[in-house]
Amino acid sequence: MCLFCKIAAGEIPSTKVYEDDTILAFRDIAPQAPTHILVIPKAHIPSVDGVNPENSALVAHIFETIPAIAKAENLVNGYRVISNCGPDAGQTVPHLHFHILGGKELSIQMA
Ligand code: 5GP
Ligand code: ZN
Repeated sequence: MCLFCKIAAGEIPSTKVYEDDTILAFRDIAPQAPTHILVIPKAHIPSVDGVNPENSALVAHIFETIPAIAKAENLVNGYRVISNCGPDAGQTVPHLHFHILGGKELSIQMA
């Protein structure tokens, strides 16, 4: 089982901010902004490259939930959503996840 599958299964503890039957949001262990949350499908999808017609409803559900998480975190001034896919993007955990970053004015650097 991959690291985030273990977190989804509760085998590794995390600070959860949202959970339902199919997705989980928890605080990043090494935050890069005052608010840094990871949102994952509980089902294992390796990365954005693994999104397909069979599982894309999970991605839609994640994006429908992100605004509610941002509101609960009081990110009234905006936030950034990032998914790193593969080595060139610096993906370190091979389970699809979306970073929510906010709580400060973020750098505009994209690469
Ligand atoms: P990536 O680099 O793959 O886009 O993002 C992986 C993220 O997972 C990193 O921001 C890293 O800090 C976070 N992370 C790695 N291991 C753990 C862990 O055990 N618990 C939590 N909460 N976050 C983790
Ligand atoms: Zn996994």
